[in-house]
Amino acid sequence: MARDDLMEKVVSLCKRRGFVYQGSEIYGGLAGMWDYAHYGLALKNNIKQLWWHTFVDSRDDMYGIDTAVIMNPKAWESSGHISSFADPLGDKMFNTMFKTSVGAGEEAMTAYLRPETAGGIFVNFKNVVDSFHPVLPFGIAQIGKVFRNEIAPRDFIFRVRELEQMEVEYFVRPSEWERYFEEWRKKVPGYLAAVGIDMDKVHELDVPDAERAHYSKRTIDFEFDFPFGTKELCGLAYRTSFDLSAHERGSGVELRYVDQETGEKIVPHVIEPSFGVDRTVLAVLLSAYAEDDLGRSSAEASEGKGEKRILLKFNPSIAPVKAAVFPLLKNKPELVTKAREIYSNLKSQIPNTMWDDNGNIGKRYRRQDEIGTPWCITVDFETLENNTVTVRDRDSGGQKRVEAEELVLILQHGLAGY
Ligand code: ATP
Repeated sequence: MARDDLMEKVVSLCKRRGFVYQGSEIYGGLAGMWDYAHYGLALKNNIKQLWWHTFVDSRDDMYGIDTAVIMNPKAWESSGHISSFADPLGDKMFNTMFKTSVGAGEEAMTAYLRPETAGGIFVNFKNVVDSFHPVLPFGIAQIGKVFRNEIAPRDFIFRVRELEQMEVEYFVRPSEWERYFEEWRKKVPGYLAAVGIDMDKVHELDVPDAERAHYSKRTIDFEFDFPFGTKELCGLAYRTSFDLSAHERGSGVELRYVDQETGEKIVPHVIEPSFGVDRTVLAVLLSAYAEDDLGRSSAEASEGKGEKRILLKFNPSIAPVKAAVFPLLKNKPELVTKAREIYSNLKSQIPNTMWDDNGNIGKRYRRQDEIGTPWCITVDFETLENNTVTVRDRDSGGQKRVEAEELVLILQHGLAGY
């Protein structure tokens, strides 16, 4: 598939099937703004949940936080963002932080929408240490919206002006930064693979001195072969003690960690894995997109009119819909009643199960393939006799008959495999 073609196909599928729409589309849109529809939102939530599970809930050295988008502007002054968070534009540098104002009349002051979630983490370092008494090394994690007035937003949800980030600031003893940098360097690809990104298309780039952000002493970008070029998907930065020291100077508040055994006061150093949610969604969609001849060659061809089929091969754990239940014919009340019963039972155990009786079976398969639903369950006349149903596998198109009572277990098993 030509690379441009792939991008066009994914963008069009996202709109057609309700994943992502252009923001304010009926008014001609607004550059760099996109809206997530039902399935895109479910996909995005699953990607975020897997991240949170991997990096926060399954560990015992991590603390979650959800901080305000608008911070005291002094914080951005201290962190160097007001002077340095800028991209080249003609002769001048253009600061890409969005300005807003807080308060009314004479009280009004200029403030900024945060351009990264990290800022909210650093200013809460002391609070977290005082509340939880963590032992080094430990991390603080945040998922949230950030805003960047990008000079040239482009490539669908790759470069946008309103985005979400998933970031960890991992605090370590200064002498141990290399060890933990290497540890995170292995964990990042582990997550990317688990979320369903094609790892043959992911490459590490050791970012040269001149191109690193002002706060970083070492950065590795994890790049992905997007159809429009090999570009940064997420990054791993060694931020030294830059931020804590800067906020200490700016606020006058001591931001240190006190070693409980020696009483020594340390300004920890920081390793930062930083992921963009929207870029991850795009890489997952591009990795999952496939076309094959199933619609032409199999028994499904007669109903699917022999077209090439399009499918999204999501890992079941992040698929927006886990299973769809169909009555073979929707004008046979006994089939519909039985299918509804099986559907309700399944949905109570596996929430993202969907009812689908729209169009013939071939059309329903096409639709579910495009949504990326791993399993389709059909209730037919045989079900009324012996309580068995067919389960059709998205990727192979293969079908098998199973006891309706075993469905929950079979699907749970399939979901746990990823
Ligand atoms: P780029 O070089 O592509 O502008 P960056 O180096 O400015 O990215 P970081 O500041 O390291 O990006 O931000 C961390 C992550 O946030 C990126 O790896 C990316 O996934 C995401 N990200 C940053 N800017 C954008 C954007 N404008 N649109 C979508 N995602 C973004």
